[in-house]
Amino acid sequence: MQTEDKEAIGYTPKSALDKGLETGELYCQRCFRLRHYNEIAGVNISDDEFLRLLTEVGNTDALVVNVIDIFDFNGSVIPGLHRFVSGNDVLLVGNKRDILPKSVKASKVKNWLRERAHEEGLRPVDVVLTSAHHEDDVSELMEEIETYRHGRDVYVVGVTNVGKSTLINAIIKNATGDADVITTSRFPGTTLDKIEIPLDDGSFIVDTPGIIHRHQMAHFVGPNDLKLVSPKKEIKPKTYQLNAGQTLFMGGLARLDYIQGDKQGMTGYFDNHLTIHRTKLEGADAFYAKHAGGLLTPPHADDMANFPKLVRKEFSIKDKSDIVFSGLGWVRVMNRGVVAAWVPEGVDVLIRKALV
Ligand code: GDP
Repeated sequence: MQTEDKEAIGYTPKSALDKGLETGELYCQRCFRLRHYNEIAGVNISDDEFLRLLTEVGNTDALVVNVIDIFDFNGSVIPGLHRFVSGNDVLLVGNKRDILPKSVKASKVKNWLRERAHEEGLRPVDVVLTSAHHEDDVSELMEEIETYRHGRDVYVVGVTNVGKSTLINAIIKNATGDADVITTSRFPGTTLDKIEIPLDDGSFIVDTPGIIHRHQMAHFVGPNDLKLVSPKKEIKPKTYQLNAGQTLFMGGLARLDYIQGDKQGMTGYFDNHLTIHRTKLEGADAFYAKHAGGLLTPPHADDMANFPKLVRKEFSIKDKSDIVFSGLGWVRVMNRGVVAAWVPEGVDVLIRKALV
């Protein structure tokens, strides 16, 4: 038990600790929530503990379900996962599909995720798209898991913010039928670092803690702006007619310069409430210096001190492509040209064949 780090294992508020010591009924906050609210809260462990856990998974004959955020593949990667689970079957689950516009074909997203996984050395047995917010999706996911687990246990792994806790809670609801029957006693194998959900044949779905991926866009904005980098609703694309020499600012979080090419429409796929600001490329640096945290927000003025500087990466476009701002969204560029994309230092920006 500890009272210092809310996100870490064994946390209990000081007042609850004192009361617990008095009454002899002492739980950490996570077990308390599981017991009283039937809710599993995410928990983080250190990189070392996580490595130990992955080694354990690698030594087990189990299906590994790696949950990732479709909007943040790079921010979802577990470094070195392929080395630990080289002997295991891995099912790659792209979560938050409900945010994708209807015009985006699932097959294209899956292909892209598979390609990116291969680049990371991971060879998943299959790629599934799901939404933790939709019961039908979760049922479908359960069927896929059933197909690939061949009677084995299932380990669910993922870094924080990909929606793993939400998905696990939906899986529990689906697996047990009734969310209200969840108590710690129903989960006898539950320890501080693992929660075992019993399946019909005596196997388990094991929820594992996540590690923090420090390069997620989500870590660079204040709590009130989180919704802008983790959209809740289906994205409505917005098209801008741009000439070379123009710049788009995505709040103050990212920037796209159109450097060379004919006038063309560029389409932004971002949270519907993120303000996109168009300006001249000439003077865009000065514009950002003056307005970041003000007109260009998020980040807010209070967050600016800890907000990394934007760094630039140039892309030469040959065919219809998406410039992907990891964890934020993407801009589709239809025709040939040269663009430069700017992101907070540490966040990834990459190019892919256009999804739409
Ligand atoms: P964890 O850290 O991986 O356990 O992530 P959480 O379960 O705490 O989820 C992180 C954020 O993503 C929360 O704001 C969730 O509401 C949101 N989220 C989780 N799953 C989905 C989903 O399928 N669709 C959408 N739109 N949001 C989701």
